[in-house]
Amino acid sequence: MVFGVVRPYPWKELKISEFPALEAYAQGFPTNIPFSESIGFLIEEVPGSSLTMMVTAHEAAHQWWGNIVTPGKFPGANILSEGMAHFSTALLFEQLRGPRGRIEFLKRIEERYDNNRRVDSERPLVRIDGSKDGDTTVTYDKGGWVFGWCCATWGASAASRGSAISLGRRATAQTSPFSRITSP
Ligand SMILES: [Zn+2]
Repeated sequence: MVFGVVRPYPWKELKISEFPALEAYAQGFPTNIPFSESIGFLIEEVPGSSLTMMVTAHEAAHQWWGNIVTPGKFPGANILSEGMAHFSTALLFEQLRGPRGRIEFLKRIEERYDNNRRVDSERPLVRIDGSKDGDTTVTYDKGGWVFGWCCATWGASAASRGSAISLGRRATAQTSPFSRITSP
């Protein structure tokens, strides 16, 4: 799997566990992804949406970003889990569908950010704490897009090196800022 480029998948199995449509979410715990039937098993996929694959890829990425690299409890930290999970999803789309797949996914999250951001009250990525409207799209969509930009700007090798160092140290954003360890 593409996420294993920076560190191999650390466990022996990964399960998707369906639960009833009482809630509509999935969550990537180590080795297990509880997955609502309302966003996977019972939906009719709209051609081109790839919703189920996107959710599965995002939650699988949390096996690394969130479960190995655990964000500290301070503003901006969740970008290391949610932003990186989104960016890893983009990389998986590229692996399966070529550069166009990655670009389409990044374009989709950029559009979602444009539609859901709160222009008048938006704070910088490092100040997001989840307390305001619009924080979610900044953490997930802008965060994922920015990591895509970093990869395109610094080059994949620098981004992979930074990712590998983070994963190797079981780092938190507090001790190993991504920008510092990926600096040329
Ligand atoms: Zn997530």
